[in-house]
Amino acid sequence: MPHDDDLNRAAWERCNHLVQSWLINSVSDSIAQTIVFCDTALEVWLDLKERFFKIDRIRIANMRSSINNLKQGAKSVLDYFTEMKSLWEKLSSHRPIPNCSCIHPCRCVASRVAKTLMNEDQIVQFLTGLNDQFLVHGYPNVNKPSPHANTACQEDSENGAMSSSGSGASASSPSAGFSQ
Ligand SMILES: [Zn+2]
Repeated sequence: MPHDDDLNRAAWERCNHLVQSWLINSVSDSIAQTIVFCDTALEVWLDLKERFFKIDRIRIANMRSSINNLKQGAKSVLDYFTEMKSLWEKLSSHRPIPNCSCIHPCRCVASRVAKTLMNEDQIVQFLTGLNDQFLVHGYPNVNKPSPHANTACQEDSENGAMSSSGSGASASSPSAGFSQ
């Protein structure tokens, strides 16, 4: 916080007030009542962080286990994919992949590699939960370059593998997208 006689003080106070009201307006009334007397946005932030960090860890662990336990079962491939994708999105909103902080241009490929690995994990997870009829050789070939999970699902759909109650004949090559 700048000193009282600092020229930036007024601007700082405006910003602080703005951020503080964003924070207060983003939480429920009962939580807002407990942070409304904090002096700065930073204090509010640290207070909330301390309170919710542990809860968030538990939530992340729960999301991971939901993802691991999700199976296609009686769902169509599309419904199964949609459900899994929404879990992935929830998980990555709680634990996003860190962004590269290299000064432009990026020399490390860390975030690109992390995204590729995450994408591969997602594809394997998706295929693992698919009903057996969609797996040709028992397990997908994941050593070759993988397309995006979206593409994988789309190709499944185009191959006519949309229905979980299909005869199985239509599931000729669900892993086609993974083994080009
Ligand atoms: Zn970088």
